[in-house]
Amino acid sequence: MNIRAKEPARDAARLKPAPRSAAEAAEAARRRKDDPAYRVDSERRRGRGAVANPTGRYEPMQKESFDDGWEVEEGLPSLQTELIVEKPRTIISKNDSPDLSFDKSINPYRGCEHGCSYCFARPTHAFQGLSSGLDFETKIFIKPTAPELLEKELRAPGYQPSTIALGSNTDPYQPVEKKLRITRGILEVLNRTNHPVGIVTKSALVTRDIDILRQMAERQLVKVAISITTLDPKLARKMEPRAASPAKRLDTVRQLSEAGIPVTVLVAPIIPAINDHEIEAILKASHQAGATSAGYVLLRLPYDLKDLMRDWLAEHYPDKLNHVFSILRETRGGKDYDADWSVRQKGVGPYAWMIGRRFESAAARLGLNRRRSLAMRTDLFTPPARDKGQLSLF
Ligand code: SF4
Repeated sequence: MNIRAKEPARDAARLKPAPRSAAEAAEAARRRKDDPAYRVDSERRRGRGAVANPTGRYEPMQKESFDDGWEVEEGLPSLQTELIVEKPRTIISKNDSPDLSFDKSINPYRGCEHGCSYCFARPTHAFQGLSSGLDFETKIFIKPTAPELLEKELRAPGYQPSTIALGSNTDPYQPVEKKLRITRGILEVLNRTNHPVGIVTKSALVTRDIDILRQMAERQLVKVAISITTLDPKLARKMEPRAASPAKRLDTVRQLSEAGIPVTVLVAPIIPAINDHEIEAILKASHQAGATSAGYVLLRLPYDLKDLMRDWLAEHYPDKLNHVFSILRETRGGKDYDADWSVRQKGVGPYAWMIGRRFESAAARLGLNRRRSLAMRTDLFTPPARDKGQLSLF
């Protein structure tokens, strides 16, 4: 088995899909399921979320597997996680998107080994010339200098503190963090400088840093959001293969809450006909574990994520493939995805409306979101001391 470049002209539909009906797109996913040039053998991708590794959308040539008579794919080793050191010049990213509650974020990692099939960050791997599929969960970019860069940026004259979202794009507590401790280094800087932070994760590893988070919570400098999509461990294993199990995530909510750290549960994403029946149960279990607020996001599928999601459904829930997408399209104005910021998180139409009402009434019954969101303090911010290596002018 080998890889060869393939003229995009031979299969333009795959590289740049033409508008298709829901039924045509589903049929294409079923055909891909049996296409050895497209799919990766299930043994090689054991414990991974995506079922394929399609060529990145900016690549001039498409890659495909072919049998060259030397090795059969079944004999190849399973996909290993590869770490790639990145040396960015700055670490705080800024955004002005009106549907986001933060304007600054830090992502210590690019790519995410948790491998959630629905992850909206997957298509960002195309910027590295990589695939949104298996590359996203096996080729992880790490930023070991993040704590130093952060310190430098916080020290800049005129820096204005506002809550930094840690892991807005990819999980700051993915498995490699256990060894690298980059996220912990960032928290140490934020704690030292009294800078507010909001964390989003699906990992129990966040409890390792309770010692820091507890101190920050006492000064209203931290909130943690735990994303819980299902209480069913079998579904979680298929959908989020390397993230913490649902039971571990609930235990994480419990440990953080008991330490006095405000916890939000995020039912994100809600996938029609896959986990939408669990909204009330997830909120109830999270509330019992100590969460005080909750939010949700309806599945959103930018760029090639729509076809990766179809591939995942074709493998795990073939009978639901058409149904899931017909509901999704109804919530996205007849398309697979609508990037308009005013509707991208919650969708439109009767199904989206019904999900919103179910969520609101369950949250209200449990007393979630009762208090107005706890304001994070920025008035305590103390810029880091001057770098000892810098010479004083005076
Ligand atoms: S944990 Fe978050 S960032 Fe990681 S794959 Fe899942 S959704 Fe994406």
